[in-house]
Amino acid sequence: MSKGVNFSRPLVISGPSGVGKSTLLTRLLDEFNKDASQPYFGFSVSHTTRGIRTDSKGKKEVHEQDYFFVDTDTFKDMIAKSQFIEYAEYSGNFYGTSFQTVSKAQVNDKRCLLDIESQGVRQIKRTGLKPIYLFICPPSLSALESRLRARGTGESEDTIQKRLKTAIKEIQYAKKPNAHHFVIVNDDLDRAYQIFRQVALGHRKGERAE
Ligand code: 5GP
Repeated sequence: MSKGVNFSRPLVISGPSGVGKSTLLTRLLDEFNKDASQPYFGFSVSHTTRGIRTDSKGKKEVHEQDYFFVDTDTFKDMIAKSQFIEYAEYSGNFYGTSFQTVSKAQVNDKRCLLDIESQGVRQIKRTGLKPIYLFICPPSLSALESRLRARGTGESEDTIQKRLKTAIKEIQYAKKPNAHHFVIVNDDLDRAYQIFRQVALGHRKGERAE
């Protein structure tokens, strides 16, 4: 399955909030991590200071599974102790990837999947992690806005506007040459998933060895 590629090389997935990263990731983990004793992928669970969200179907995020939900003092203490590979302030909250969560996700040579925003991507580029970078792009800003509103997670108008502003910056960064190894436009979920799956499995042409 990992023919010709270093399967243990992490995969960094970025893209604006609401673009469908979590949906794609959940689908991948449902397909490949069904057998809990032999998971193909490890997911890097981030720390965040934002509150737990409940989606429009009433499903609540789970501590230690979706995120480690911590208070600002705990997060700042982790920064002071240099426990993060990268961290960023996004939409008024902190988000960060701890060294511990990445090493846990990589146990047994699993490919570690990281879902982070673009400030974190830039920081990771200055580390020795050498991941594959994948950007998920919305078909348009208005499509992204509709998605952010439709997911019904109760965000305020101010938060939605902040996320849209940040999205513009993230899309601009993604357009820079060599910003990412792969860009997938999520205009059709099934089509995007097929490409995403190939990238994650290392089957997509263009994956660089270094
Ligand atoms: P959300 O609040 O929608 O779950 O996430 C907001 C943004 O934070 C998303 O773009 C997501 O990719 C990003 N994010 C999640 N975890 C991390 C992290 O550990 N580090 C960074 N830099 N961004 C993260």
